Amino acid sequence: MIDISTNDRVFVLTGAGVSAESGLPTFRGAGGLWRGYRVEDVASPVAWARDPLMVWQFYSMRRKAHSEKYPNPAHYALAKLQEALGDRFFMCTQNVDKLHEEAGSRGVVHMHGRLFQSRCDTCARPPFEDANTYEDNVPRCACGGQIRPHICWFGETPYEMDAIERELRRCSVFMAVGTSGVVYPAAAFAAQARRSGGARTYYVGPEEPANRALFDECYLGLAGELLPRLFHWSQLGAVAV
Ligand code: NAD
Repeated sequence: MIDISTNDRVFVLTGAGVSAESGLPTFRGAGGLWRGYRVEDVASPVAWARDPLMVWQFYSMRRKAHSEKYPNPAHYALAKLQEALGDRFFMCTQNVDKLHEEAGSRGVVHMHGRLFQSRCDTCARPPFEDANTYEDNVPRCACGGQIRPHICWFGETPYEMDAIERELRRCSVFMAVGTSGVVYPAAAFAAQARRSGGARTYYVGPEEPANRALFDECYLGLAGELLPRLFHWSQLGAVAV
């Protein structure tokens, strides 16, 4: 069990593993390949410059794959934790899906972007909601630029790093769920939380992450099975999920 006191501030980092039980495969679980390409070679600025239609075909497939996928008990447990802790809870996800929101989580920081948003690759128009699929042509902005997925590709800078770093400095509990600990900068968050605020650090997932040394405790198992049982819900003033 993870003890959370009334003075604690909790930072949660989630990765692809939290959505695995909803039927959205992790990249590594899917063999890391799409049509024989490494995912790193499709989700990159180089791929966009070379073949934007292929990039859109990949994200169109992922938009379609999201339909009829629903939050699992891990998403609901995290939404419940937020409800109990209020503004002492902060969640940052590497996931681009919207299952945390569908489970009721609010204000989730999507450091790697959102699958159902797009933006112009040329002008400063803000990202906008977009559930369309583009398999035959690349959409254009009024400015003449190309519309791209609002996704942080390999080699690009993750979003909202200022807010993330502020919360890492002030959290006293850091919990990572379903993330292999190999994708930076997220893989270094546990170290930052320990260094700046002396946070207690926990990992939840079926296998030890690559950055295991940064965690005080690892809870090994499926997030959907472990998370609902990991907290003293009654002490937190919440009913069990
Ligand atoms: P990752 O590096 O975050 O690794 C996935 C981790 O999830 C692995 O360590 C695995 O052990 C763990 N896992 C598998 N099933 C689990 C379960 N039921 N409960 C808890 N943990 C579980 O992710 P990746 O697949 O290598 O992807 C790299 C990048 O792509 C990350 O930014 C990732 O979040 C993103 N991605 C997002 C989605 C999504 O939005 N759903 C899907 C695939 C990849």
